[in-house]
Amino acid sequence: MTPSIIEEAASSCTFCGACVEVCPFFKVTKNPKYGAMAKVEAAIALFEGKELSKEEVNTLLLCTRCDGCHSSCPMEIPISQVVQAARAELRRVNAAPEKYKTIADAIIKTGSPMGAPLEKRRVCIPGGFKPPDRAEYLYVTGCWSAIKLPETAMATMELLMKAGVDFTILGEKEWCCGLFLIDTGMVEEAKELAKKNTLLFESTGARTVVTECPSCHDVFKNIYPALFRSPKYEVIHISELLEKVVGEGRLRLSPETKRKKVVYKDPCPLARRNGILRPPRKVLSAVCELLEYDECGRDALCCGAPAGVKPLYPEISNKLAELLMVEAKEKGAAEVGVGCVFCMYHMGGLQKEAGYPPIKTLSQILLEMVE
Ligand code: SF4
Ligand code: SF4
Repeated sequence: MTPSIIEEAASSCTFCGACVEVCPFFKVTKNPKYGAMAKVEAAIALFEGKELSKEEVNTLLLCTRCDGCHSSCPMEIPISQVVQAARAELRRVNAAPEKYKTIADAIIKTGSPMGAPLEKRRVCIPGGFKPPDRAEYLYVTGCWSAIKLPETAMATMELLMKAGVDFTILGEKEWCCGLFLIDTGMVEEAKELAKKNTLLFESTGARTVVTECPSCHDVFKNIYPALFRSPKYEVIHISELLEKVVGEGRLRLSPETKRKKVVYKDPCPLARRNGILRPPRKVLSAVCELLEYDECGRDALCCGAPAGVKPLYPEISNKLAELLMVEAKEKGAAEVGVGCVFCMYHMGGLQKEAGYPPIKTLSQILLEMVE
């Protein structure tokens, strides 16, 4: 939607309040000023040229764009797009936080939000794997998997090798998908990345791009075509490829399977924006006893980290992660299975002292059960 259509959509808000309590930031603060309606109210004021209070700016920044509020709105207002447009306006009037600029600069100049050297992306490549120039599948590791938790990307590549999948990776040529730029309203900069990444992926000749990260998946599949053009490949999430190779019997599973209870944490973009609910559950059910969170699938609780929330409001963000870890422990889960390495990085930061179950990706859990 164009900025003017978004502004018009926001202005149809009747302030009915139906979206207040569904917002994860209301859930952890119990403050209606951090619920979704307050974000729409602040955005409308900003679009009308009013100066916002500190609290109004805070509420616009305290949104992971998880889309948890969308189905609650009787006016069908795309609240997360309203927040995105409001953040673009905050930038325009020089009211955006300095951290936004730091993270955006890191992405544009170094290729990752953490500003890591590109060669760090090679650490996750398993010994003995020499990525070919061209392959049927291009596996895009994503920043958090390749740089912060390289053992997760390595587990996926080891599984794909065991399953005999013809795949390659980009290594140090891989660049951030630019989600943060999109979340914070830097659409022109995101367009540059859409073009760069689409052309790079096409240069491998891959018919399918498979992503570790559910946000990369959503960005490549649903956002890049609007920012640049339709690609010459299809985009799938790793859970879909794992479901396929497990279903085709291409991995030999150990007789020790099904003994462990694992609770699955749906990633917001995978579940809500793309409806990918069955593949991760099929993969986990093949090797363990699957448990569900009380809020799961399309109603899954956001982990609280994305879209700049974690660096700006770490305490509030961590409270959401804690809710998820406490519930996992109370349900008797031996492990938390995640479809997102950023969720894993964020939720894993709490673990040490509280005795929470370990967090693993689908690939890590599956790999442990492959002979
Ligand atoms: S998108 Fe998520 S975080 Fe943002 S207002 Fe809606 S429910 Fe809250
Ligand atoms: S549910 Fe929709 S109409 Fe009601 S307050 Fe929220 S944004 Fe406005």
